[in-house]
Amino acid sequence: MGKASITCPVCGKLEFEDFEDHENCSQCDWKINITQYDNHDYSDGTNPLSVNEYKLQYAAMTNQNTAETAKKLKDEFYGDRYALNKEFREVTRAKGTQSCSDMTDKMIALRIAYVEELKKLVSSS
Ligand SMILES: [Zn+2]
Repeated sequence: MGKASITCPVCGKLEFEDFEDHENCSQCDWKINITQYDNHDYSDGTNPLSVNEYKLQYAAMTNQNTAETAKKLKDEFYGDRYALNKEFREVTRAKGTQSCSDMTDKMIALRIAYVEELKKLVSSS
């Protein structure tokens, strides 16, 4: 990795070389995405959460009162996402359909539930 020139919008650390940088942020795990960089509420795309939701996750992960619970929640969320992706691939293969609205709804529900847990956690600390 060369010289970083772009500040991560989630954790505020100087992390990225340019907008083609493929590394995740070493601090908060955010992956650079121009749409998200400009719109912090945008939640679709390469990252499973919006920038504002990443900020919430980062706050919970870096607060020593909530870090342990936050890590557990994060692992569960990523595990559920992985399982859902796997399930979707199997369904698509079996039915030969490209429809993904059902999958999208489930992913959104999963994300919203996770963010709600994070909000509760951060406000309780
Ligand atoms: Zn970051």
